[in-house]
Amino acid sequence: MQKMIIAIDGLAATGKSTQAKRLATYLKYRYIDSGAMYRAVTWFALQNNCCASPKQCDVNALIAHLPALQITFKTIEKGSSTLFLNGENREKEIRGMEVSQWVSTVAAIPEVRTFLVDQQRSMVQMQGIVMDGRDIGTVVFPNADLKFFFTAQPKVRAQRRYDELRAAGQNPEYKVVLQNVTERDRLDSTRAIAPLVKAPDAIEIDVSDLDLEATFQRLLTHLPKNH
Ligand code: C5P
Repeated sequence: MQKMIIAIDGLAATGKSTQAKRLATYLKYRYIDSGAMYRAVTWFALQNNCCASPKQCDVNALIAHLPALQITFKTIEKGSSTLFLNGENREKEIRGMEVSQWVSTVAAIPEVRTFLVDQQRSMVQMQGIVMDGRDIGTVVFPNADLKFFFTAQPKVRAQRRYDELRAAGQNPEYKVVLQNVTERDRLDSTRAIAPLVKAPDAIEIDVSDLDLEATFQRLLTHLPKNH
């Protein structure tokens, strides 16, 4: 059977990446975390003083830097995907709260989106791919073979992200995490370009009451019979 393009979009902290990674491993496909790419550009912008308080970016300065940014993914452990920016492993840096607080502002810049969407499209080539994000089924691959859209209650999502950050050695306040996931959804779904929205042909899954295994089993029920 021809290899598929599978898009997993949805609200912040619904476990899209965890499921996309697992599905890619199961199908022996490539996994791409498009959110990590927006996070990498945001981290770079913060490092290079392109973003400053209050919530304002020097858009022209950032745009001028874009051609020099090389984003790649490597599989360091089986089933994982590690982001490298200009040859350096930046996986840890891009997951911090500061990047989370800025990323939706940077992701709304049209030039940033064009720059990253071109790269995302070029990653398909011949192999099957599972890509997660916000606009994969609507903009990046509107003709994807299978599209999912994940939702969940804000408190469930914030708890999930809070637990992940703690497990990674960070010590955020729960209410800051809750505020961040809801604010990112607000910014992501109201931006002018490629807003976060369910594609009409995407399968919506509310994961509020589903654990990781149940969510994965739900995804499997939607794969074509002869995958
Ligand atoms: O997936 P993750 O939560 O890491 O994404 C971080 C942010 O990157 C999102 O809140 C959104 O602003 C942006 N993003 C996007 N389009 C994508 C993936 C992520 O705008 N395809």
